[in-house]
Amino acid sequence: MSYRGRFAPSPTGPLHDGSLVAALASWLDARAHGGQWLVRIEDVDGPRCPPGTDDLILGQLTALGLVPDEPPVWQSRRGDLYQAALDRLIAAGLAYGCACTRAEIAAAMGPRAKHGELIYPGTCRPENGGTQGRPVRAWRFRVQGRIDWQDRRLGAQSQDLATEVGDFVLKRADGLWAYQLAVVVDDAEQAITDVVRGEDLADNTPRQIALQRALGLPTPRYLHTPLVLAADGHKLSKQNGAAAIDIGAPQERLREAMARLGLSAPPVSPALGPWLAEAAARWPGGHFGSGS
Ligand SMILES: [Zn+2]
Repeated sequence: MSYRGRFAPSPTGPLHDGSLVAALASWLDARAHGGQWLVRIEDVDGPRCPPGTDDLILGQLTALGLVPDEPPVWQSRRGDLYQAALDRLIAAGLAYGCACTRAEIAAAMGPRAKHGELIYPGTCRPENGGTQGRPVRAWRFRVQGRIDWQDRRLGAQSQDLATEVGDFVLKRADGLWAYQLAVVVDDAEQAITDVVRGEDLADNTPRQIALQRALGLPTPRYLHTPLVLAADGHKLSKQNGAAAIDIGAPQERLREAMARLGLSAPPVSPALGPWLAEAAARWPGGHFGSGS
């Protein structure tokens, strides 16, 4: 299978130093493998995405010479695909309706998962009596057991979904699609072979692999890149006010991103294209696992 990678930003804010590292790493890995590189706008959480931010990000990528090989797709326009996947999971008994409010789940005193969400105690599982006539608010995935997986940089990984995550939401009470389902459906529909993204998303991977298996979809290879930390040691993110990158000097920004990946950047070039080609030649695909 020929390599297909993607960069999948959430348009909650413009590209910053941290998201540029993820964009560049996914682009370099695709180019170093002679593969294709796609861009997907992950705007399922519409209320958190200011209008126009998607175009801002696409403009930043273009200015940096990171141009996708196919037109970008928007998750907000792909609800039919996600509904079809949810319907299949429901029909297979792998998803069920949940009538619980957030307060009820909190009152059930489930422990908090590592990623900060409450671990749902399974109240509305059919074998526990279902919703008992109350209206369905959200749809949840029925997790079972442990997922073992291999990351090209982090090595062998393992997570017990039942005890560490719980039955997670696929479609939220407000009608919005959950990130996990949308990503899994899109990666398969776009025939993505390699996911290269920031290490903060590694914790999502077991949930996504479980959904892939439940839907009979292939599991891509995964490479989680080092996080860019702010001066105070916290993860650099839009949420803690990371500044939008200055695209007036694209090679400087790209050189900084390469340094954050532990790579020496090519010397400054009069043109961005040749510079990026040289950067791709320096990508240590072998160091991160050959990906094949
Ligand atoms: Zn429930």
